[in-house]
Parts: sequence; structure tokens; C-alpha cells
Amino acid sequence: MIKEAEIVCPPGQQEDEAVLTALASTAINIPQKRIKGFKVLKRSIDARGRKVLYRMQLSIYIDEPYTPEIYNHQYKNVKDAKPVIIVGAGPAGLFAALQCIGQGLKPIIVERGKDVKQRRRDLANINKQGLVNPESNYCFGEGGAGTYSDGKLYTRSTKRGDVTGVLKTFVAHGATEDILVDARPHIGTNKLPQIITAMRESILNAGGEVLFDTKVTSLLVSFGKMQGVQLANSEKLMADAVILATGHSAHDMFRMLHAQGILIEAKPFALGVRIEHPQEIIDRAQYHCEYRGPDLPPSYYNLVEQVDDRGVFSFCMCPGGIIAPCATAADEIVVNGWSPSKRNNPFANSGTVVQINMEDVKGDMADPFRMLDFQQKAEHLAFKAGGGNLVAPAQRMVDFVERRVSANLPVNSYLPGCKSVDLIEVLPDWIHARLRKALPAFGRKMKGYYTNEAILVGVESRTSSPIKVPRDRETYQHPQVAGLFPCGEGAGYAGGIISAAIDGVNCADGVARFFA
Ligand code: FAD
Repeated sequence: MIKEAEIVCPPGQQEDEAVLTALASTAINIPQKRIKGFKVLKRSIDARGRKVLYRMQLSIYIDEPYTPEIYNHQYKNVKDAKPVIIVGAGPAGLFAALQCIGQGLKPIIVERGKDVKQRRRDLANINKQGLVNPESNYCFGEGGAGTYSDGKLYTRSTKRGDVTGVLKTFVAHGATEDILVDARPHIGTNKLPQIITAMRESILNAGGEVLFDTKVTSLLVSFGKMQGVQLANSEKLMADAVILATGHSAHDMFRMLHAQGILIEAKPFALGVRIEHPQEIIDRAQYHCEYRGPDLPPSYYNLVEQVDDRGVFSFCMCPGGIIAPCATAADEIVVNGWSPSKRNNPFANSGTVVQINMEDVKGDMADPFRMLDFQQKAEHLAFKAGGGNLVAPAQRMVDFVERRVSANLPVNSYLPGCKSVDLIEVLPDWIHARLRKALPAFGRKMKGYYTNEAILVGVESRTSSPIKVPRDRETYQHPQVAGLFPCGEGAGYAGGIISAAIDGVNCADGVARFFA
């Protein structure tokens, strides 16, 4: 017999089998000796009351043993199957490739960047010398923007597809099973590269192909049908189906599509800054205590405020994290955040951005690059204000609201360094004004948040794609080109690792239907 029950337990005991068995026994009123095992279904931290607790949903096995599930995917061999070209090895591309194999199709991934190992050197150059390799950086290379990301795996887009299936695929490739039960699953930058490597090995072992340092420069289209892709090394790759999963930072791909007469559209996004606090300020506010202690993880927050008709919200919050330089060109500043699996850095950072509507940005309404140009302007201004070498413009929080250039900046995690400026030099005035109103309001919601110990670093601009590549809702194909499947975050169908992965799966299913 199996019964489900919710239990609460004090921090530090959430993995202690004896404690959990005793709590389960009380919850279902069955003697402990009859409980032969249990499976954790959900686990979350409840910090609403004065005492912080773990809340857990259990499946309790009574008089029968619990056999743990083994997560191990078997892939069929597709070496000689029909080829599908997948441009981009981000989460969308990798999951599309695995799903193609499941559908009996041979994925050929074409990736402009390097494999995860070689990519590391380019990240070191970015952080230590402020040098950006436009083909290999935090956004480009094996695993895409997902590899050296934070690896938070929660998503609001559960309706789009099989979230649990995506999480199980991560577990089958080396992620811990915790991600299947935690309310806020997280992998961490240090663990993602091995997982991505294991996914590549699954693709290769099944007879798929992965080409690194190989950039697609144009699509080969004949009479409205996909034929293949042209590579920068002047070779051509031929296939009747191409999944285009090039991410939101491949601006050259958007320009290439437009130049080829393939329809793209401008799309709204959000822009702002990354804000960093000492982690202990966030812990004090969220856990209502002076010191978090060893039994609780660094805490997070989620803040939103409506200011003058626009949403201002925190985004991609990284407890115990680092602010990362995520530019893809030498003359721009783009910040984002990551954290290691233990989240043991002393800072908490979060993107804090203002929603931009289409009518907010002036220019030719028919110009598909209107929003992208607006995004790039802020990134270039940030570079100029920082003075070069990826030094980022920054300001203390209260100084920002009170319009003072900070006399000095707090110690922070952004490795290329920060320069004290008035961020009005970088942000459009209507975004600046809304952020100035939102921050004290956030402080009223969360004690300690509004403080001059916090630093604002500009600019958080790649929140989502400023361009959409249209596709049919049913077939997932571009309306003008049969066999072209716009996919993932860059095409405007995802915002984060899980939704990009799900979109990859959906596009691969679309390809299978196209070939059927
Ligand atoms: P991408 O991951 O951008 O992959 C696109 C790939 O296409 C890249 O590898 C690129 O090199 C390749 N490519 C581009 N053009 C070409 C071409 N012409 N030829 C060949 N290849 C090409 N999301 C979360 O859900 N949780 C997080 O915690 C999180 N943290 C993040 C932290 C950081 C620092 C960053 C940068 C991002 C983070 N994200 C996070 C966002 C997440 O990484 C992206 O949403 C996700 O990677 C998008 O997946 P994608 O496959 O659509 O595109």
C-alpha cells in the first residue's frame, strides 16, 4: 500500500531518513515498522512564519518496499537515418537533438563556439583581461548560454510541454535527483559543463554529429523549401529540415534572415541593471534571523512593482552568486548572473528590469531591428561609461535613487571591475525614473533591501530576444519556408533553460511530423 502525506521538518533534518520515517508514521498514523520506504515528491522551504521549515510531500510505502527509479536513457542508433540540421548547441538545440534521436532522425548540430572545455579559456580572458571572443563567450559555445549560466530550472511555462521529462533527462546525464523534487531546482555553473558533455556523448553514441567552431552564415532555400545551410568555412550542409536555435545574442543571424527576405519581427523585452547585495542582508530579511546558520540555503527573493504603467521586476535571482560579463562583442557591456551549486559566494544578485512595450521605442514601426537597436544602444553606452575592458558602470542603490554619483563602490563580484557613474548616462530616462521609484518600494516589501550597501551594475539587457522569428502554431515551421523550424529563446519562444529545452523537444516533434 502507498499513501501520500505532507510533513514539515526543521532545517537540517530534511534528508535524515530516521526523522522522516518518524514524521511520516505520525502523519499517516501507521507504526514505523510497517513503513518500508518513501519517495520525496516535492520539497520546499516555508519561511512565512517566524520559524523556517521544510515542507515535504512524501509517497510512503507501507508493507512493501520502495524501489528507487533509475534514470538512464537508452537512445536508438540513427547513424543512417534522415538528417536534421540543428543550428546552435544551447538547451534548445541539445534537447532538439535528443528528441530527434527519439524520433528516429539523425541530428547534426552546428555550433559556432567551442566545446565546454575549450570555452573555459575564453571565459578566463573575459574575466581577467576584459577580452571578448565574439565566437566563444558566456553566450556562444557548447551548451549555449545555459552552460555557464546559473542553472536554475524552474519555469512558469509548464503548459508548453513535459517539464519533468526535461528534468529527468538532466538527471540521466548527471544532475542530482534533487532537481526532481525541489520547488526551486538549481544545478549550478560548476556542474553544468559535465552534464552538457554527457548530453553530447549521448548524441554522438547514437550516431548523431556535433560540429564545433562551425558557423552558419546563410540558409539554403529553394522555392520556399529548406535545402540546407551555408557554413563560414565555405562548405554546405544539406538537409530538408533545419532547426534554428541560435539564441538571442546571435544578432548576425537575425540580420542574415532579414537580408535573405525571411520574415522576422521586432518584439518587446525588458531592460535594467543587475543589483547585488551582501547575501546576509537577504537572509536576514527572508529568514527573520541574524544569522542563517548551516542548515538553510542562501535565500532568494522575487520582487515586482507596477510603476507608471510598466512592470518593474527582479529576474534571474542568484543567491550566493557572481555577476557575469555576458557581452558577445568587444564594445558592449551586458551583465547577467550565475552561482555555483553550493551558492557559497557572499553576494546575492538579481536582474532588476523594466518591461518595455513596443510603443516605448521610437522609430519606424515596420523596422524589425527597432528593439534590437535600442538594446544595443544601452549596451554600447554602458561600455563607454565604463571606459573599456568590460569595466561596468555602477552606482550604489540609495545614491542612484537620490541622483548622486557614488563616492566609492562596495566590494562586489563583477570580476572585470566597476566604475562609479550616474547611471542616467546609460539608461533611457523613463527606465531610470521607474527603477528609482521601484527600489524604495521594494525596500518597503523586504526589510533591508533598500540600502547603499547594494550596487547597481549596468546593463541587464539580454532578458529575452528583441526579435521574433514567426512560425506556424501547429507545424512549428516558418510561414515562408517549409522545413525551417525557428526554435528557442532567440526565435522568441522561450525564456530560460527549461522553456528552451521544451521548445527544442517540440520542434523536433514538428520535424518528425513534417517528414511523416
Ligand atoms: P542559447 O543558449 O543562447 O544557445 C544558442 C547557441 O547557438 C549558442 O551556443 C550559439 O553559439 C549558437 N549559435 C548562434 N549563432 C550561430 C550560428 N550562426 N552558427 C552556429 N551556431 C550558432 N536560464 C535559466 O532558466 N536559469 C538560469 O539560472 C539562467 N541563468 C543564466 C545565467 C547566465 C550568465 C546567462 C548568460 C543565461 C542564463 N539563463 C538562465 C538563460 C539561459 O541560459 C537561456 O535562456 C538559454 O540558454 C536559451 O537557450 P537557447 O538554446 O534558446 O539559446
